[in-house]
Amino acid sequence: MGEAGDAFRLGQVLLSRDEIKRRVSEIAGEIEREYRGRELIVVGILKGASIFMADLVRCVGDSVDVRMDYMAVSSYGDASTSSGVVKIVKDMDTFAEDRNVIIVEDIMDTGLTLYYLRDIIMGRNPESFKTCVLLEKPDRKKIESEIDYRGFVIPDEFVVGYGLDYAGKWRHLPDIWRVVKE
Ligand code: 5GP
Repeated sequence: MGEAGDAFRLGQVLLSRDEIKRRVSEIAGEIEREYRGRELIVVGILKGASIFMADLVRCVGDSVDVRMDYMAVSSYGDASTSSGVVKIVKDMDTFAEDRNVIIVEDIMDTGLTLYYLRDIIMGRNPESFKTCVLLEKPDRKKIESEIDYRGFVIPDEFVVGYGLDYAGKWRHLPDIWRVVKE
């Protein structure tokens, strides 16, 4: 995003902590209804999905046997545009074979990261595989990659907060903000 040397600052709040909280608990309710009485491996994609995942799993009741795991991926190319080649930096520790797996992602932009992750996990023969994405930017989609649980559809603007960063900054903010050029 932007040219080297550009400075960015927080613009306006796009999604407030209350809106996020409501939507996260609705999604958790859907997951709970779907997986009641079963084991579920929830795999968060680091670092962006860490805060979303932590809130999400705490809203899923004990009728689901939730297990938490993480993956970290890096996309070749610059930090904010996906090149389509995704490298696993940290794999999940759990064996996915014959398990119910949900990948939790912060944002789907081009769709390439999710497409690639689906391919990898499906190759491990899970019992079921679903995707849960907090934010979707449909205008930037390059490849069809299905989202089973979606938080919000947002316009093509760079956002930070609630786990999302710009150059490592602003992940800890409780609301989701637009970033603007100074
Ligand atoms: P995709 O492979 O779908 O293009 O890339 C998704 C990844 O791009 C996200 O996990 C995130 O790291 C990054 N990304 C895309 N849009 C944004 C944005 O608006 N804000 C932030 N912080 N990261 C973004």
